[in-house]
Amino acid sequence: MMAPTPFASAEPRIDPVEGNRLSVENPATGEILATLPLDGSDAVDRAVQAARIAFEQGDWRRKSPDERATVLRRAADAIEREADTLSRTLVAETGLPLTQVAHLHIPRTAANFRFFADNNLVPDGTTHLVPGRHLSLVTREPVGVVGLIAPWNAPTVLASIKLSSALILGNSVVVKPSEHAPLAVARLVAILHESGVPEGALHCVHGPGQPTGQAVVAHPDVAAISFIGGTGTGRAILAAAAPGLKKVGLELGGKNASIVLADCDIDKAIANHMITMFAGNAEQCLSASRILVEDAVADRFLNALAQQTKALVVGDPMDPNTEVGPLAFAAHWDRAEHFAEQARTGAGYRVLAEATLPADGGSGFYFAPMMVEADGNDRSLCQEEIFAPIVMVQRVRDLADAIARANDSDYGLAAYLWTRDIDAVARARRDLRVGTLWVNTVMARDLRAPFGGFKSSGLGRDGLAGLLDLFTEEKTTMLAEPAF
Ligand code: NAD
Repeated sequence: MMAPTPFASAEPRIDPVEGNRLSVENPATGEILATLPLDGSDAVDRAVQAARIAFEQGDWRRKSPDERATVLRRAADAIEREADTLSRTLVAETGLPLTQVAHLHIPRTAANFRFFADNNLVPDGTTHLVPGRHLSLVTREPVGVVGLIAPWNAPTVLASIKLSSALILGNSVVVKPSEHAPLAVARLVAILHESGVPEGALHCVHGPGQPTGQAVVAHPDVAAISFIGGTGTGRAILAAAAPGLKKVGLELGGKNASIVLADCDIDKAIANHMITMFAGNAEQCLSASRILVEDAVADRFLNALAQQTKALVVGDPMDPNTEVGPLAFAAHWDRAEHFAEQARTGAGYRVLAEATLPADGGSGFYFAPMMVEADGNDRSLCQEEIFAPIVMVQRVRDLADAIARANDSDYGLAAYLWTRDIDAVARARRDLRVGTLWVNTVMARDLRAPFGGFKSSGLGRDGLAGLLDLFTEEKTTMLAEPAF
């Protein structure tokens, strides 16, 4: 089935960067929402210098953790007061459905600030006594100026985890939101200033990877980089950070398998797959994008899922009935369409379901969600991260077959398992090469627990311990015991 497409150009209709301005486009309408000054290397240098001076001389780092926590709680309150405006800004710049943004993204953004205010990330020191000789005192201190580089897919949720954890520890921060969705994050930064984070300790710079992102990464006064984005970009950032021996945390792409075993609660699995396959327009690192279903239940499971996929409501993201909005920007839409065309015409693929595009989609970047069965896991659509609603499906013999296919990937971010068999859970936990395994649940996050990827899905971990490592340095002080 060939879907009608809202526009056929392989070219973006606008270039987000023109001269020294950045244009932010609404992917549902093509309207230019805002133009911002583009921050080149000089502007980034000014922001980093100011952040360094604030770190060395300012009072943010010297405030008590309780005082900093109060500021983060104030920011959370302000986010909740502004939830409606923030939601609409985020929907306008990303195309994410308003219902999901209003019920999930913005509440979670506020909750993330509260979480790091309430869960004491600030560590106690430890001591070791060598009797009669010395006492060693181990403490942690903020790393200095942190560079945060964020993607467009869940801008406020992701930025809020890093902003709140870096700030509660006393660091200064320079954040660069995605050039495709900078507006809601810029407002978060303003809210933090209004709530009491000193201007010098927190800066927001705007622009694409080149020149803005690169200037942040390469700046000698940036001590640590926290990056969320694509694997290729992550590799470039790691290389650029190497000469400065900076600390680097990378949260990168995924091609997450969902293993459905015959003994599972099929109805629950079907309902949850519709969430993990298509929530957030399937533009989520933790979406299930490869379904591996055991032969014995494959027909029942796939037929039900295909019917529901065909019935998905694709449309205006501001409409409360919309389940899937437009893709975020033109080049991303082009890439997804390229993969969709491979699925429709390429050998080894069968399109099981394709939703209907909105009749009145105008020039929005609307894309019809698809379920595609593949002959084998070596097909390119089963290997590449598409980051759009094209879900690949394979039938598997048993758990061993499923684990082998799930691991046959450059990525290792996450996996899902649907079963009632405790032995299957134990085996999957032991053998799957992923950072997170969800069993009979989808996308649940616990910020105390590590989150991150094996293999090409990342370096380092989110969560209390990983963020503490990234955003602090350890220091040992050896105190001689006095000779009496
Ligand atoms: P991207 O890599 O294109 O861009 C991410 C950010 O990096 C943007 O702000 C961009 O301007 C900046 N950037 C690009 N090149 C740069 C460079 N050379 N130096 C410094 N900065 C640079 O990613 P994207 O398209 O914005 O986001 C989608 C990707 O993010 C997907 O691969 C997705 O899986 C991944 N992601 C991962 C997680 C996770 O937790 N693992 C979460 C969300 C998104």
